[in-house]
Amino acid sequence: MRTVFSYLAAFRLRMGAGFALKVIGTVAELFLPLIMAHMIDEVVPTQSVLALSLWSAGMLAVALVAWAGNVVANRFASKVARDTTERLRADLFSKTLSLSARQTDEATLPSLVSRLSTDTYNVHNMLGMMQRIGVRAPILLVGGVALTFTVDPVLALVMLVTVPFLALISAVVARRGIVLYTRLQESMDAMVRKVRDDHTGMRVIKALSKTEYESRSFRAVNERIVQDETRAGVITGITNPVMTAVLNVGMAAVIFIGAYRVCAGSVKPGQILAFTSFFTVMLNAVIAVGRIFVEFSRGSASARRIAAVLALPREMLPEACPEDESGAFIRFRDVTFSYGGAPALENIGFSVKKGESLGIIGGTGSGKSTLVSLLLRFYDPDAGAVYIGGKDVRSYDKEELSKKFGVVFQNDFLMAASVRENIDFERGLSDDRLKDAARYARAEKFIAAHDGMEGRLTARGSNFSGGQKQRLLIARALAASPEILILDDSSSALDYKTDAELRKTLFENLPDTTVILVAQRISSVRFADHILVLEGGRMAGFGTDEELMQNCAEYRRIYRSQHGEGGEEDVQA
Ligand code: ADP
Ligand code: MG
Repeated sequence: MRTVFSYLAAFRLRMGAGFALKVIGTVAELFLPLIMAHMIDEVVPTQSVLALSLWSAGMLAVALVAWAGNVVANRFASKVARDTTERLRADLFSKTLSLSARQTDEATLPSLVSRLSTDTYNVHNMLGMMQRIGVRAPILLVGGVALTFTVDPVLALVMLVTVPFLALISAVVARRGIVLYTRLQESMDAMVRKVRDDHTGMRVIKALSKTEYESRSFRAVNERIVQDETRAGVITGITNPVMTAVLNVGMAAVIFIGAYRVCAGSVKPGQILAFTSFFTVMLNAVIAVGRIFVEFSRGSASARRIAAVLALPREMLPEACPEDESGAFIRFRDVTFSYGGAPALENIGFSVKKGESLGIIGGTGSGKSTLVSLLLRFYDPDAGAVYIGGKDVRSYDKEELSKKFGVVFQNDFLMAASVRENIDFERGLSDDRLKDAARYARAEKFIAAHDGMEGRLTARGSNFSGGQKQRLLIARALAASPEILILDDSSSALDYKTDAELRKTLFENLPDTTVILVAQRISSVRFADHILVLEGGRMAGFGTDEELMQNCAEYRRIYRSQHGEGGEEDVQA
């Protein structure tokens, strides 16, 4: 909440003006029943038409002030709520982008998305509501009670007895509400996560006829939301009736005692009428307070979720580290890393000179992509160090480090935009650069066949084949002439011939670029200057194809399994 308030501070002038208008409007509203009581008890008995007309005109004027004050103040309130939320959302978005990979893993992507959407929306509603009704309702309530005292203290005291009960109910609702709405938001996160997973795996789910199972598990997530919503709804739903009931009991007492006092001559009928008017005003105020508490519990649960992300510390900042004297361009020195459980990489050590190529091979889950993540400094190693150009990657400025790389990730994405936009990626590269990149990536021909550089891609590039998408991604990675080009499993969608041609063009046209090829196929890496063989996060071998064929059993095993020379037997051995 404090975070949200600090955002409101920027708008304090506008909020103050709205607040003042609101107070004026609301106070004017409170005087209406008093004017009415005066007219009935004092003006009407004089039977003067002039006096009555004047008082009526006066009452109309006060009503107008009340109306105008409220309307203008509400406009101010909406503006403040909207602008505050806009800033909050913008900051949350850039914070989300600046989170380290580990922080993102922990928060989970769906939860970050719903904080950006649902939670900021709830905060927006809360801010609007608090300014619109949060000011008005308490004034009506307190003012109403105070003015009833001026009308008749005895009756007012009767009414006042209800106040502690109302306060108690509000407090209980707010406390319970925050807990329940936080839980509801968490269930919503779970649902978004489920939908995302299913959406990504839609084809697999259909292919394996898992739709029945998936529907069932979605139903479970959905039911949890319904349950949480019901719980939150029950507590907030009974608030209004209970508060109204308490007030009604007070009112019944007032009328009962009031009737006696009118008969005794200590109160006039107009005053009783004013009392019932105040009652209506207060009743509405109480109902409004109930709504505020619902909105407030939901909004502050959301505000907490947003503040939690905004408060995350900046990680992965550049730090001073000792340099590497070995003269290698890329060097892993005894690197061990885990995502939290068992090590994903253990004692990895190798080095590559500038312009050399590196092939990384190993089964799924052997740690290939993790190794790439460490090189890009998405994560820091638990032990050892990663050097590029003699400098520890931890000592690089983030921008400077990422400029060195052109990367195609394993599950990389294309935008629903033109081919040009996809290759350029907002870097403002020249036409020649884009064309060269397309040629090196062997994408020239099919781009020409698809309306050229201006041809459009549909969402996720689904109007291009898997191999064509891969080549567009490679063109994008190449376009800025990076020092290091990383292709993580990028050739798996290419047929053997295209794959071979692609590698040839890459090596011929980019002699200064250090190419890192991650693959599961031996044919994709065997011509690299060095090949790193990974097995369960450990180095099973490092050397050239020839060397590895001689002294790396794992490499030979992979080779045989892919060349159909009794691979099965070798697995046993
Ligand atoms: P490869 O690319 O060789 O298929 P990865 O490097 O992706 O393998 O994964 C190595 C191991 O680390 C696997 O056991 C995988 O489950 C685990 N892993 C990968 N990414 C994460 C992550 N973000 N959080 C936790 N574990 C992960
Ligand atoms: Mg991988």
